[in-house]
Amino acid sequence: MGDLLPEDTATWRSVETILRDILIAYGYHEIRVPIVERTELFKRSIGEVTDIVAKEMYTFNDRNDVSLTLRPEATAGIVRAGITHGLLHNRRQKLWSTGPMFRYEKPQKGRYRQFHQFDVEALGFAGPDIDAELIIVSSRIWRELGIDTVELELNSLGTPESRVRYREALQGYFEQFPDALDADSRDRLQRNPMRILDSKNPAMEELIAGAPVITDYLDTESAEHFATLRRLLDQAGIGYRINPRLVRGLDYYTRTVFEWVTGRLGAQGAICSGGRYDGLVEQLGGRSVPAIGWAIGLERLVELYKVCGGEQVSGAPDVYVVAVGDAVVEPAFKLVEQLRDATHGLIIDMNCGGGSFKSQMKRADRSGAQIAVILGEAEVADQTVGIKPLRNADAGQFSVGWDELGATLVKFFA
Ligand code: ATP
Ligand code: MG
Repeated sequence: MGDLLPEDTATWRSVETILRDILIAYGYHEIRVPIVERTELFKRSIGEVTDIVAKEMYTFNDRNDVSLTLRPEATAGIVRAGITHGLLHNRRQKLWSTGPMFRYEKPQKGRYRQFHQFDVEALGFAGPDIDAELIIVSSRIWRELGIDTVELELNSLGTPESRVRYREALQGYFEQFPDALDADSRDRLQRNPMRILDSKNPAMEELIAGAPVITDYLDTESAEHFATLRRLLDQAGIGYRINPRLVRGLDYYTRTVFEWVTGRLGAQGAICSGGRYDGLVEQLGGRSVPAIGWAIGLERLVELYKVCGGEQVSGAPDVYVVAVGDAVVEPAFKLVEQLRDATHGLIIDMNCGGGSFKSQMKRADRSGAQIAVILGEAEVADQTVGIKPLRNADAGQFSVGWDELGATLVKFFA
């Protein structure tokens, strides 16, 4: 689990702001749900025979011996909240949420035990129009972040009923090669053979490549749903690759599943994954409510944003106020508060803790500020300040009256 340090938080915040503003502009509303839920919730929704539930959850008993789990993903908690608060009774919900998720994985680049997701869920929509909207909104996010190296992989998993035939076909196929299966896959063969397709073991690749594909087993309605979605994406100019082996690591998916992947981040190439989960709300005790969602991994997204040349926001102040002399502190405070009123949005860092002119100017320089505003006893006496541009060696210091200071700074930073 990592720390996010001050040198990175400003860039994170600006990426998060872009995501949030786009979703708000598409009519989505924020929901905030707890970081811990009852363990049962995740077992029932994600599925017992998945990597997440079988080996990645942080699970513990509380003082009352209730088994709780740090959320490994957001969908289960959001659906639970929707049921708890009756948000889904004859209503549709377009929601977004963001925050930390926890999975006990082997930490490496792009894979952490605490990581952050930005999550979008549309509940009460049968699609495929909303499926297209969710993909279109994600593609707008890449565009606004200047990310041009992602590709969309798309598949349909059909319905639980149509999957029965596919499961049988898969089992029949893999049973022919008992010796080629790794331990995980042997375990999954009877309980959940589709999980084998999700294997990350390179030794299994060839065997998996020869397996029957789910798109050959879709029911008519799912096939139509899939065809309409593809048409909507074509019309929106969004390219995709049909990947019939994309099954996703959670059990609750039906019909549309997709993943945005990039080759620029090394082994951990999935930056956004999602899918439809028409059975989940009912499975968790609500009515039957069709739904679809996706989640972006923020660590991977910020990394990709940087790799694609995204601006790294420094978070440095615009102005550093140098106030030299004990008698200057009080008038300086007053002046700086007025300045903050007059220059809304500028970052003004005022020197605290005293110091000589020289040492305060050093701090001003180290802060990264563009301008030092200098106040000494002489300036206080004639109600002026010195202004010294810090990032331009040719620019000299000049003097401005207190009454013009706000306007001068606003003009400088315009
Ligand atoms: P992967 O195949 O990389 O394990 P996943 O299928 O487990 O991903 P999801 O559960 O769909 O991932 O989560 C959505 C997104 O969250 C992923 O596309 C990825 O960007 C990010 N993500 C998942 N697990 C981690 C992790 N341990 N550390 C950082 N980001 C992660
Ligand atoms: Mg995973």
